[in-house]
Amino acid sequence: MLKKWLHKVLPGKKAAVHKEIIGYAQHGISADMLSFAAEKVVGRLQDAGFQAYIVGGAVRDLLLGVEPKDFDVATNATPEEVRRIFRRSRIIGRRFQIVHVMVGPETIEVTTFRGGNKALHNAQGRIMKDNTYGTIEEDAMRRDFTCNALYYDPVRQEILDFHRGVEDIADKKLVMIGEPAARYQEDPVRILRAVRLSGKLGFEVETQTAAPISEYAGRLKNEPVARLFDEILKLLFSGHARKCLSRLNSLEVSDNIHPLLTALKAADRPENRIIALALKNTDERLREDKSVSVGFVLAAILWPQVNRYWQQYQQQGQRPAPALSEAVNTLREQVEKGWGVPQRFTATMREIWQFQPQFANTRGARPHRLIAQARFRAAYDFMVLRGQTGEADADLIQWWTDFQHADEETRAMMTMAAQQHSAQQYADGKSKRKRRRKPRKKKPAESE
Ligand code: ATP
Ligand code: MG
Repeated sequence: MLKKWLHKVLPGKKAAVHKEIIGYAQHGISADMLSFAAEKVVGRLQDAGFQAYIVGGAVRDLLLGVEPKDFDVATNATPEEVRRIFRRSRIIGRRFQIVHVMVGPETIEVTTFRGGNKALHNAQGRIMKDNTYGTIEEDAMRRDFTCNALYYDPVRQEILDFHRGVEDIADKKLVMIGEPAARYQEDPVRILRAVRLSGKLGFEVETQTAAPISEYAGRLKNEPVARLFDEILKLLFSGHARKCLSRLNSLEVSDNIHPLLTALKAADRPENRIIALALKNTDERLREDKSVSVGFVLAAILWPQVNRYWQQYQQQGQRPAPALSEAVNTLREQVEKGWGVPQRFTATMREIWQFQPQFANTRGARPHRLIAQARFRAAYDFMVLRGQTGEADADLIQWWTDFQHADEETRAMMTMAAQQHSAQQYADGKSKRKRRRKPRKKKPAESE
């Protein structure tokens, strides 16, 4: 029975359960590259008589000389057994129980090896339930790509490789374990993982792994929107967002899966240049270890759509600020309901957008009020981005740049100067009406 199933999952040359042990001379992973906490967790589990390995993306990244984002540990100890070994630990998750073990400031995710052929599938081949425990070989088979199915034992300094992952890493190839079409059916999110990992690692997606993507990408629509949004965020903040974008197109991930993905796929068009610019910025900032704002990046990705409505409503005769509010409202319904974007991000996006027409006010008390607002800096950066696409006025941006760097006294003068400037323009014959009306003095309260 198991053999028959193995054949189904591992056709062709990967049919035999294969195991390679790769020693230090080949992998070159030294102790100082590891997380102290992960090493300690593995050591304690092994001392207690269990198998334990550093697993997944961390081993892959170590082989590539990239600093791993997180260190996960896989073991044959059950969650309860792990919990008993580590005082500072807690079991999380109901369906797939994992244990978070705290060591100093670090948290290590410890997962029990997942089991063989006991997963429950629905009629479309989607895995519905998969919470049985198994052997390390079975666990390896459950993982997505060969480069993610490596188990590193820091005590023996050996990598266990069941799917020729080390070879594929050397060849910079992303290869699905088992039969790719079936694996995408089991979990369509693996499609987005293929996009992200190949973009981030600079890997080529092996032909057979790439082939079924266009056919099965549509199934992503049935995934919980929160999970999709999560994956899209990982893609945007991978540090290689632009490469991931080009993979979305080259791997033929279809449109209309998620509005953010659809917007991203169209980032190459000239009218959407702000998206490409924002992603370039984000990639660069992440590479320099600078902070990035989710709300800001999402605001840029959706701006072409907001802007289209904004222009349209202005053409219909609305003034800039109310037209923008209406544009935002038009999009708001969709963003908050069907897109899985948490409210804390949508609030930031709205604030950044609604700031944009306010920047036209360079007179009187308003600039002073705007600059004091929490979202000013993000909104200003956004205007600069709009300036790079030629959409926001360069002189206006310069005015706000100067205003920010000016001291209180200069600021007061600038807002006054603007007042005088515009009064002068007005007086210089832009309108004779004004002059005619001038003698009819307004009451002081109204003239402010
Ligand atoms: P990253 O560098 O972004 O953390 P990662 O490959 O480590 O990449 P994780 O989401 O941390 O990604 O997942 C850890 C490991 O769990 C993966 O390396 C892979 O072995 C396995 N995994 C994650 N998601 C899936 C999935 N959808 N199907 C099969 N295996 C998965
Ligand atoms: Mg990881």
